[in-house]
Amino acid sequence: MGIRPSPERLRAIRVAESKARLTTTVAFFIMGLSVVLSLEPGAAVFASYAWFVIPVGLAVGISILFFGRRWMKQPQTCPACRQSIPWNSERCPFCRS
Ligand SMILES: [Zn+2]
Repeated sequence: MGIRPSPERLRAIRVAESKARLTTTVAFFIMGLSVVLSLEPGAAVFASYAWFVIPVGLAVGISILFFGRRWMKQPQTCPACRQSIPWNSERCPFCRS
């Protein structure tokens, strides 16, 4: 502790954060879209297919959140020794870089 993480490590963390933001945005966009598409155009009532479209949209959104989280937890590679590092570890456990 007290040692700043390497610039490569900071960059990897920033990439993981932007991935997280992207998957969350896409998931909520799809869930919102399923509700919007189920509204009858021009009227504030749900169309007859809403019972089908909304659950499918919610399921797709939730699975994107779920798989996006797994995707972010993919082990990363150490820039110095090419060993895979756990996604949440600050430094490489092999070469301490
Ligand atoms: Zn290493």
